[in-house]
Amino acid sequence: MFRKEDKFMEVQFVESKNLKEKPTGALGFGKYYTDYMFVMDWDAGQEWHDARVVPYGPLEFDPASMVLHYAQETFEGLKAYRTKDGKVQLFRPEMNAKRFANSNKRLSMPTLPVDMFVEAVKTIVKYSEDWIPTGEGESLYIRPFMFATEAAIGVHAASHYKFMIICSPVGAYYAEGVNPVKIYVEDEYVRATKGGTGFTKCGGNYAGSLAAQVKAEELGYSQVLWLDGVHRKYIEEVGSMNVMFEIDNKIVTAPCEGTVLPGVTRDSILHILKDWGYEIEERHLSVDELMEAGHNGKLQEAWGTGTAAVISPIGELYYKGDKVTVSDFKTGELTQKLYDTLTGIQWGTIEDPYGWTV
Ligand code: PMP
Repeated sequence: MFRKEDKFMEVQFVESKNLKEKPTGALGFGKYYTDYMFVMDWDAGQEWHDARVVPYGPLEFDPASMVLHYAQETFEGLKAYRTKDGKVQLFRPEMNAKRFANSNKRLSMPTLPVDMFVEAVKTIVKYSEDWIPTGEGESLYIRPFMFATEAAIGVHAASHYKFMIICSPVGAYYAEGVNPVKIYVEDEYVRATKGGTGFTKCGGNYAGSLAAQVKAEELGYSQVLWLDGVHRKYIEEVGSMNVMFEIDNKIVTAPCEGTVLPGVTRDSILHILKDWGYEIEERHLSVDELMEAGHNGKLQEAWGTGTAAVISPIGELYYKGDKVTVSDFKTGELTQKLYDTLTGIQWGTIEDPYGWTV
């Protein structure tokens, strides 16, 4: 199963004596978890060991576990899709593996070789196969994560870690389908700055983003649009999605220079757009230029990209008292075409010309 310096590591399996009832009705997002979870330990000097698939359940923690104090924690998110002919497929899992390794390096945590990560994902998906839903827009959300378990007070890189994967059958992220959302351009809080952890998927990034999210919701907006941390004017991401704009028939998105999370969906959408002949500008786009484009009719469409919702159209932008409506608050033609194409590849209803599905 697992290759470690040309030796294969066995994955131990502990059977559950209490298989759960499968949910009926709407799945929602992250409400239900499958019968099994993948666990593996890392100890300094011993590397990765004791890979196992065990019944899903609570963990026992030492209160001094370093993750609880110093937040050495990283995670990933990807999905398994059931195709019409009953096959199960993953979408570009090696990209999640590489991003996970980059996150772990930045947080001084051990890394997992790409093939080990992908093999672990395949293993837990096999044990969760009967949980992969078959309804329209439904999939199995896979959440790999790693955290420091060393019991110690004192800031240093921990010498014990756990790597785990849990899985959740999920419905379409937005129950009502692909609909435009209202976005609040955040001018007080920042998500990331150069030299920080913006390019990683570490829990701390998300903890720090909540205050802005709460504020946006209180003001009647669904998500925040993050500006850069230095000039406080260049567009970075929207909520926990990458963001793209069609301005003057060109596609504009923030470059991945350390503050933006390099999304798997972002990369895939840019590939597709290039193939369709679109000119892509990965550049610093100021919020003033964006609002101006909104007012003078050059901003044609705007959308967020991410694994959970795939594509989320932006219908309104609010910045310091100024408001712009995008595509008459309707899902734009290009946004819808991108959504249909990418979800078609992911669920296997259209042929995958890129070799992305595994
Ligand atoms: N940015 C942030 C901050 C995110 O949390 C996510 C979700 N992983 C994304 C972008 C989109 O990444 P992906 O397309 O790989 O899901």
